[in-house]
Amino acid sequence: MSWRSTLSRLKRRGYLKSEKVEEALIEVDRSKFVPERHRDYAYSDRPLPIGEEQTISAPHMVAWMTELLDPSEDDRVLEIGTGSGYQAAVLSRLVDEVHTIERVENLYKSAQENLKDFENVYIYHRDGSKGLKDEAPFDKVIVTAAAPEVPDAWKEQLKEGGMLVVPVGEGFRQTLKVLAKKNGELIDLKSEGGVRFVPLKEGER
Ligand code: SAH
Repeated sequence: MSWRSTLSRLKRRGYLKSEKVEEALIEVDRSKFVPERHRDYAYSDRPLPIGEEQTISAPHMVAWMTELLDPSEDDRVLEIGTGSGYQAAVLSRLVDEVHTIERVENLYKSAQENLKDFENVYIYHRDGSKGLKDEAPFDKVIVTAAAPEVPDAWKEQLKEGGMLVVPVGEGFRQTLKVLAKKNGELIDLKSEGGVRFVPLKEGER
């Protein structure tokens, strides 16, 4: 499977819409974020295991969430759930800064390695449900693990008028929500059904 043909399919299926997101997906080599034993599938549209029972999201999900976030070059973005670092790398081509949080130490370490050439990506090893107060406020927040509900910290750390893209819900299926901060509160802009993410982990850190 070639990357170009995968991207054409994402366009036909409506996940990939803008030229700038397509360029970012061309610029960042997904195979560099995939463990060696799965590299044959790096350019296929499927999630792949990255260890610690976690996955790198499928390309259509990365394209879709990136489009929903409506990235602009002045944005400072917070990502919850660094995983392989691939989503952060793609975003880094489209925005000013990406701050990304990973809770699992091994994944944090391999993401640091994967992202070492991406100078506008900052990685933190901590619990993302608390957000990142020191660097707030953010223009956008993207969450790549399923949240049973939206913690106050994410709302508080978002700028007025800012946007949050997050899979909300419990169990195997969640709703992908696009929320905006208006008058200090989060309002629903869009809800897209039936996505499947690994749940956000709670506890230590
Ligand atoms: N964006 C990633 C895929 C994310 S998978 C990529 O492009 O590869 C979800 C990630 O969220 C996993 O790496 C998981 O360890 C992490 N995670 C789960 N709970 C978390 C929490 N409370 N804080 C930060 N990261 C968390």
